[in-house]
Amino acid sequence: MPKVACPECDRQIAMHELEANTVTESGGFSTSYRCPYCRGSIEDVADHLA
Ligand SMILES: [Zn+2]
Repeated sequence: MPKVACPECDRQIAMHELEANTVTESGGFSTSYRCPYCRGSIEDVADHLA
């Protein structure tokens, strides 16, 4: 099970625990994720894969 390290609080968060936020932008979609613990945004999940 892949996990990401939150850059804000350093917790290890399972991918399915992240709060995904898909927004429509001009030209497509953008998905951002938030830490369920500290509400910090995790912009590039792939960069934080543990
Ligand atoms: Zn966090």
